[in-house]
Amino acid sequence: AKRNGKNVFRFYQADMDEEIIARRAIGAELQVAVERGEFVLYFQPLVNAASKKIQGFEALVRWKHPTRGFVSPAEFIPIAEEIGAISSLGGWVIDEACRLAVTWPTPVPVAVNISPIQFRHSDLPQIVSDALRRHELPAHRLELELTESALLESTPATQKMLHRLGEIGVRLSLDDFGTGYSSLSYLRRISFHKIKIDQSFVRNLPEDERDMSIVRAIVDIATTMGVATIAEGVETEDQSRALLAQGCHQLQGYLFSKPVPAEDVPLLLAPGSVE
Ligand code: C2E
Ligand code: CA
Ligand code: CA
Ligand code: CA
Repeated sequence: AKRNGKNVFRFYQADMDEEIIARRAIGAELQVAVERGEFVLYFQPLVNAASKKIQGFEALVRWKHPTRGFVSPAEFIPIAEEIGAISSLGGWVIDEACRLAVTWPTPVPVAVNISPIQFRHSDLPQIVSDALRRHELPAHRLELELTESALLESTPATQKMLHRLGEIGVRLSLDDFGTGYSSLSYLRRISFHKIKIDQSFVRNLPEDERDMSIVRAIVDIATTMGVATIAEGVETEDQSRALLAQGCHQLQGYLFSKPVPAEDVPLLLAPGSVE
């Protein structure tokens, strides 16, 4: 049969409508989901690249939806940002991460993701210092993962916010490094403690020579500036070896552990597996 351009368009249109309807439904439910306690934090270990011992965890939010089951943050975070629910959700994430981290048998840091919208539209230093005080978590145990898009405009407000966070004593990580437009200029302006090399640069190691060169260059620049590096999305022994050989400090990925529920963290922190 002859392809009918109009029908193709109509299928596409139908998909679009479904997508919009689904997003609206999720958005409406998101508003109340925080109060209903439908979110949970999972934790993924960050390991020392050489010894493979655990040096911290990244908190990753999950939505335990009453009928849909687990909904991925890749799906609901953009919607939460769109409808203005990200600041309350993000505030909950910070508080919950601090609440859980103080119960860990070993005082390793916890890293939380900060949405660019949350960064711009909430009083982050206040929220962070409140959470630290409430749970009596030392500031150096909290790492904030910021993406470049949070920092796009270098306004006085942004600078002041970063300054206040620095005074509080939390650590700043530059997440998804290398995927933005001007990663290097952020390194010059802002004192990060850690750079997270995006998993897109890790995926094709060690075969892809360009990616090997990129990783080497990132680690070199960071090391020269006294900034630690961590590679995310490490799935194979070969990738792990290549990253260690390039001088990367920490690794994170399924090779070591998937994100685990909070109750499993103390098990992973058993004596001998921590450094
Ligand atoms: P991200 O910050 O880059 O987090 C890393 C993502 O990679 C996580 O997906 C993690 O589960 C996944 N991952 C870890 N190891 C591997 C691996 O070896 N291979 C592969 N293919 N993937 C791996 P997740 O948990 O689905 O989160 C997706 C994104 O959602 C995160 O990307 C982050 O941008 C966002 N997100 C998650 N939790 C939060 C949160 O609490 N607040 C905000 N604002 N965003 C969050
Ligand atoms: Ca992250
Ligand atoms: Ca990342
Ligand atoms: Ca990412």
